[in-house]
Amino acid sequence: MAPKPKIFVVYTGGTIGMRKTPDGYRPETGYLQDLIRQIPRFRDPAVPDFDIEEFAPLLDSADMHPGHWLRIADMIRLRYDDYDGFLVVHGTDTMAFTAAALSFMLEALAKPVILTGSQIPLEETRNDAQHNLLTALMILGEYHARLHEVMVYFADRLLRGNRTTKVSVGDFAAFDSPNYPALGRVGIGIDIDWRRVLAPQPRPGPPLRVVEVGAATVAAFRVFPGLKPSMLEAVLAPPVQGVVLECYGAGNAPTTNPEFMRVIRDATARGVVIVDVTQPLQGSADLRLYATGRALADAGVVSGYDMTAEAALAKLYYLFDKGYPPERVGELMQVALAGELTRDEHPAHTPFRAEDRT
Ligand code: ASP
Repeated sequence: MAPKPKIFVVYTGGTIGMRKTPDGYRPETGYLQDLIRQIPRFRDPAVPDFDIEEFAPLLDSADMHPGHWLRIADMIRLRYDDYDGFLVVHGTDTMAFTAAALSFMLEALAKPVILTGSQIPLEETRNDAQHNLLTALMILGEYHARLHEVMVYFADRLLRGNRTTKVSVGDFAAFDSPNYPALGRVGIGIDIDWRRVLAPQPRPGPPLRVVEVGAATVAAFRVFPGLKPSMLEAVLAPPVQGVVLECYGAGNAPTTNPEFMRVIRDATARGVVIVDVTQPLQGSADLRLYATGRALADAGVVSGYDMTAEAALAKLYYLFDKGYPPERVGELMQVALAGELTRDEHPAHTPFRAEDRT
């Protein structure tokens, strides 16, 4: 009989393991592990063996920064050869950022990494924590040899990590992947869509490499009606190296405002990489489509296509921290490095493609 798969669990904090206190829910060291020990299902033969290591202190994920992403990545790297898969237990608030960041930072990843958490703590009678934890562990146990990417498992769906965004504060289905289909669905059975997963890395292949993030300075700015160009200018000021510009629709912004355009041009001339993503959940920022988009592209802004704002921000950190010069960062922002964007294939765009017009 094949040995039982072994999963390494990095427990960072979040609602899932919090304890009710007079001041509200709070993460407490050792508490999640105590609760898991009391639930016999976690020792069922269908569940892989697992070891848990906790962050100290445990975090509400609102407090996470790139240094924490690096800590998670290093914990995975240190145990990489000894385990078949990795589960990152994480708060929901910034899970999409961490998932995206890990998908870039863990280079040559040949084993699965799943992030999960919950909307209700495991200590509550009615909760989504037990289901999310057990199912994520079972997916890792069952399919570890065929999954090689960073994913989010939440409320019956397995999603590509760098495609996810938090869409609900109160529903169990807290995450969606608006521009890429789910990698798997869980009902009576566990159904993985093998056409959607990233191609396998050669095994044995190059060793896992962790790109150290945390030194770059990046920012995000959401375009809104009535914005003062001076506000954007403040965001683009040194030492900022890259900015995610969350624009309207297909990547549009108030480009007839000469001061707005001057601010953009000055920043890109200094080498600031400005990447345009779309505010709508679904669709793509493609600056070739509209005159306003063209104006941004002419001013040096790059298309983020259908990347989430979370993925674009994490990717800027990664590329700058890898040491690429701004021009190369701009180029790589427009290329899929870990399945985070789709270019030119978005059906909604086909009829509007400028070069197709007669
Ligand atoms: N504030 C919590 C966190 O992100 C929310 C959660 O876990 O659902 O850590």
